[in-house]
Amino acid sequence: MACLIFGCAKSDGEHYERGEKIMGTLVTLKADGKNSRAAVDESFEKIFELVEKIKTDLKRLEDSAGKKEFVKISPEVFEMLSIAQKYSELTDGAFDVTIAPAVDVWKIAGKNKILPTDEEISAAKNLVDFRRLSLRESDGSAMLEKSGMRIDLGGIAKGYGADLARKIFAEKNIRDGLIDFGTSTIFAFGKKNIGIKNPRQKNELSEILEIENSAIATSGDYEKFFVLDGRRYHHIIDPKTCRPTENKIASVTILVSGNEKNCATAADILSTSIFVLGEERGRKILEQLPDAKIINLAHQSP
Ligand code: ADP
Ligand code: MG
Repeated sequence: MACLIFGCAKSDGEHYERGEKIMGTLVTLKADGKNSRAAVDESFEKIFELVEKIKTDLKRLEDSAGKKEFVKISPEVFEMLSIAQKYSELTDGAFDVTIAPAVDVWKIAGKNKILPTDEEISAAKNLVDFRRLSLRESDGSAMLEKSGMRIDLGGIAKGYGADLARKIFAEKNIRDGLIDFGTSTIFAFGKKNIGIKNPRQKNELSEILEIENSAIATSGDYEKFFVLDGRRYHHIIDPKTCRPTENKIASVTILVSGNEKNCATAADILSTSIFVLGEERGRKILEQLPDAKIINLAHQSP
């Protein structure tokens, strides 16, 4: 019997699985082996804690933006921001966690079905710049330089949550299991077949991929979007223009091997980054990352 109900757990001998609605998606953790239940339940505990830490820390950062004061944040959020900054450099700013003001402009536009004005876009642009997020390693604190700046971890937190669970599964010697952050990121212990959704036929799969001890992450224009005057406006924003990216990609899936320490976090970041960069520039950047590759890419039809 499949278990698809939120907050539902199922146990069968040494197999244990549980699903919870977290970070706007259905997170399903499955494990086989004698520690399966402990691995899954402890992982969920850590993921729920992570969600709380993110909420508190982002609020504190936002409240202190522009006040020229570093604020101490949790080690987890600090680590996420540090990894994000590394990838912002690598992708020439295509991935940028200070994107929040621009994401909000487009969220409001979607809700009201009115496109934002140029003024609203330039106001957001003024606040989006990862170089104005400072991190201080010595005491694990952070600072946003300008008042109004805000952080959005929507392109990294699911991958980071998957890595947290992956570490707990590994400590518990789980060899066969699945960490599934719904629309975003998956890590497979052992061999697993994963269906990749067809971006234009949501109930169809475009491909089934076999992955083993690796993370995959997908970014697409089909999960969160609105249509206005026949045009599709999705949720991935180019930090340079503060508008939804236009790169002809409908969906991209990145695989990062489990050799990489933060493979799920990296996969989550890279799928969003390559969606922004487009295929050609994206592939160039991946040349520098031997553990990462594109395993599925669908173009928008003309
Ligand atoms: P999912 O939420 O399914 O994992 P993605 O991994 O592609 O989707 O992340 C998209 C989310 O990342 C957006 O909803 C937004 O919160 C955030 N985001 C949008 N554009 C960027 C960007 N250029 N850099 C970093 N984060 C972004
Ligand atoms: Mg993602």
